[in-house]
Amino acid sequence: MTSALMANYGHPELQFARGQGVYLYTADGERYVDFTMGIAVNCLGHCHPHLIAALKRQADTLWHTSNLFSNVPTETLAKRLVELTFADRVFFANSGTEAVECGFKMMRRYHYHHGRKQRVRIISLTQSFHGRTLAPVAACLNPLHTEGFLVGDAGFDQVPFGDLDALRAAISDSTAGIILEPVQGEGGIRAVSVEYLQAVRQICDEHGILLMFDEVQSGIGRTGYLFAHEALGVAPDLLASAKGLGGGFPIGACLSREHVAEVMTAGTHGSTFGGNPLATSVANAVLDVLTEPGFLTQVNQRADQLRAGIDALSEQYPGILAGHTGLGLMVGLRCAGSNADLLKAMATHKLLAVKAGGNSVRLLPPLNISAAEVDESLALLASACADLASL
Ligand SMILES: *Cc1c(COP(=O)(O)O)cnc(C)c1O
Repeated sequence: MTSALMANYGHPELQFARGQGVYLYTADGERYVDFTMGIAVNCLGHCHPHLIAALKRQADTLWHTSNLFSNVPTETLAKRLVELTFADRVFFANSGTEAVECGFKMMRRYHYHHGRKQRVRIISLTQSFHGRTLAPVAACLNPLHTEGFLVGDAGFDQVPFGDLDALRAAISDSTAGIILEPVQGEGGIRAVSVEYLQAVRQICDEHGILLMFDEVQSGIGRTGYLFAHEALGVAPDLLASAKGLGGGFPIGACLSREHVAEVMTAGTHGSTFGGNPLATSVANAVLDVLTEPGFLTQVNQRADQLRAGIDALSEQYPGILAGHTGLGLMVGLRCAGSNADLLKAMATHKLLAVKAGGNSVRLLPPLNISAAEVDESLALLASACADLASL
């Protein structure tokens, strides 16, 4: 079968016809356990009834008005995000990269507004991932993503992950702010340390520069907290959210404290689709479930169960598994062998996961996975390890 799609995703072999909870089904009815969850997007699994109801209700009511007019689901979602987080204001976009892009623009505009026009440069960390539009690509400097695309350095500096001295040395009179993922996703499910994050916050405050967290992947309950930085006890000035926020419906958000948000006066930024009521209705439904009493406690319990199982398998198969990283249900499976081989063996047993940096495999189960489903997944992972061990 030839495809009319561009080849930038390669040529995926698997095609799915429907999903239910933690499972994906092919048109032939073959069932897979999905620990990719659309890359941490379907946070409540496939086809969650509360999300379906919200989408259907909104589809019968109002699809789109643009931001020429306001609408209730969007106003409500912004208020809820403000009440639940460090933020005072929200801008809605349609994806993670747009949420990050908005934050970059705000960092520069903040200094411009206060007469510091030279403060335009933004510092990022090695192995970070912030999206695929030009500014995030320039920030991350992943050769695979930049080659043939960049003009100059586009105003970005990069310092090694976790290195405070390098960070201090990189700050100059032209620095506007710093962006980092509290738990790196694509880079290999690596959390920054509490001490590092506290020091970064202090450095930003000393220099009067802004701190932005990219929680596109680590946010929306994934780590057992609404946002991962809550676990680390350090708040940013700006935060990018997307992925799980819409539970599968495209939406992104840039959250900001008032002193930065106030510079985004009428006309400074915009998005035709941003704040679309279909998207914000579904995101409100996601928050309904996430804020139910005990929901995040259960995320942490399932995470403990999954991680204990990985510990046991790492002891049993030391040549294949080397423990886990990350927080909550943002799980990095460290591979002693090759992560590509492990992913292939897992897929043979119909357990799907995502590759990540640092020779790891990302396990991103739905946040509402049951204890029995965690056990089932661990059994599939054990079978994959047994296959590799017998080679
Ligand atoms: C996925 C991701 C992005 C980009 O999100 P898109 O919706 O693909 O634009 C940005 N930052 C992080 C940390 C991500 O995981």
